[in-house]
Amino acid sequence: MRLLAVEDEPELAVLLQGAMQRAGFAVDLAAGVEDAEDHLRVASYDAVVLDLGLPDGDGLTLLRELRRRPAPPPPVLILTARDAPEDRVAGLDAGADDYLVKPFHMPELISRMRALLRRPNAALGVRLELGNLVLDTSARAVLVNGLPIALSLRETTLLELLLRRQGRVLPRDALEQGVYDFDSTPGSNAIEVMVHRLRRKLTEAGATPQVHTLRGIGYLLADREEADAE
Ligand code: CA
Repeated sequence: MRLLAVEDEPELAVLLQGAMQRAGFAVDLAAGVEDAEDHLRVASYDAVVLDLGLPDGDGLTLLRELRRRPAPPPPVLILTARDAPEDRVAGLDAGADDYLVKPFHMPELISRMRALLRRPNAALGVRLELGNLVLDTSARAVLVNGLPIALSLRETTLLELLLRRQGRVLPRDALEQGVYDFDSTPGSNAIEVMVHRLRRKLTEAGATPQVHTLRGIGYLLADREEADAE
């Protein structure tokens, strides 16, 4: 899951990014309205955390602009010091999905982001399954035959992307976009190495789904038992 955090206070921005990365998200930072527009043009985000008082304008302007786009907009959580009831109303009316007032408690922000992403059509499901493999996207837990297996945060994200496209090819670019933010552009074979590790861990745990490589195209997660039956 890839998030955009629009926040002009550098210290808070870095705190936000760190906390959300530890929660398993890829996070890009934008320091103003224009910067955020640039990010939204070139990358696709599953959700946006939006400060309102920005140096080059008001976050509400950006929010209204997002809502005017033809594509379904990502869910937006407003994170602001503006705490008057009329400010909340203005934010929600402009199309925000949630509103949190500073100062805030970081775990609350993370859990509200997860709640937003669990909504219908949002990026975060609750339980993704294939064969004997289950990924609980809230707990970030992966189970094979009901027993937990140990995956890194990125391996879990990679598996989640594959599970969401099970039976269809996940292009390499989409995988890279979903796992890495701009600050952590992977080395040329980082994806291959990660896929290799994930494949090995799944095999060792006795998972029936397998990760297939389609050279030059992408990756595919398919259940071995289905494949055998064909
Ligand atoms: Ca601000």
